[in-house]
Amino acid sequence: MTLFARYSFHGEINYGILEGSEIQTISSAPYNEYKLTGETKKLDEVKLLTPTKPSKVVAIGLNYKSHLGSKTPPSVPEPFLKIPTSIIGPEDNIIIPKVALEENVTVQPEAEMAVVIGKTCKKATQANATDYILGYTCGNDVSARDWQSNDLQWWRAKSSDTFTPLGPVINTELEHNNMHLIGRVNGKVTQDQVTSDLLHDVPKIIEFVSSVMTLLPGDVIMTGTPGTPPNIHPGDETEVEIEGIGILKNSVIAGE
Ligand code: MG
Repeated sequence: MTLFARYSFHGEINYGILEGSEIQTISSAPYNEYKLTGETKKLDEVKLLTPTKPSKVVAIGLNYKSHLGSKTPPSVPEPFLKIPTSIIGPEDNIIIPKVALEENVTVQPEAEMAVVIGKTCKKATQANATDYILGYTCGNDVSARDWQSNDLQWWRAKSSDTFTPLGPVINTELEHNNMHLIGRVNGKVTQDQVTSDLLHDVPKIIEFVSSVMTLLPGDVIMTGTPGTPPNIHPGDETEVEIEGIGILKNSVIAGE
């Protein structure tokens, strides 16, 4: 098992491998050919950043029965896009835009298992889809519900700045259909599901998306959220936890 991280140390940004309480720097992103440098940093001396810098985040809607409400389960995966400028790391704040606060827009976190693509993927099949996976991380698909309902496109509902927390690390050895996903707000469990409950599993999603869209190394697929997430407000703290990856923790603050 390898745990890949990305971090900043006195302003210098590198990728590394987490080994206990230390990170060993690697020469390049984990989805490239990298070398071990032998240099280490203590985990508590660095700032962890998003572990991947994707060209795109493909997110899947309506992918757990418990999240559907009265909606009919989609017969095929239901993707939408979150843009890279909305990504933050595990030590950053979720900032609710000032205009959303002024309009009293409902904002919710969505705890999700996120797949990180390891190599260029075009027209994968369900049989070979997992060959393209580097590993898995935690994702939070922060969503502004009123904008999601009322706007024609989900551009700001899902891709306002800071609305895509990812991290803390990428675990290369987990099973896509055997993870325990937990969401918390202020320490209280608000979402709790296993990834074997996904309506469309990871190979199906990769086959469906890559039939028309090339997935590049580092790209992220957020696989959907279970249950009914709570509303969040400035002052709250969100967590997404998957055993083997750790806890993606982000505070919520008001935009200015
Ligand atoms: Mg979602």
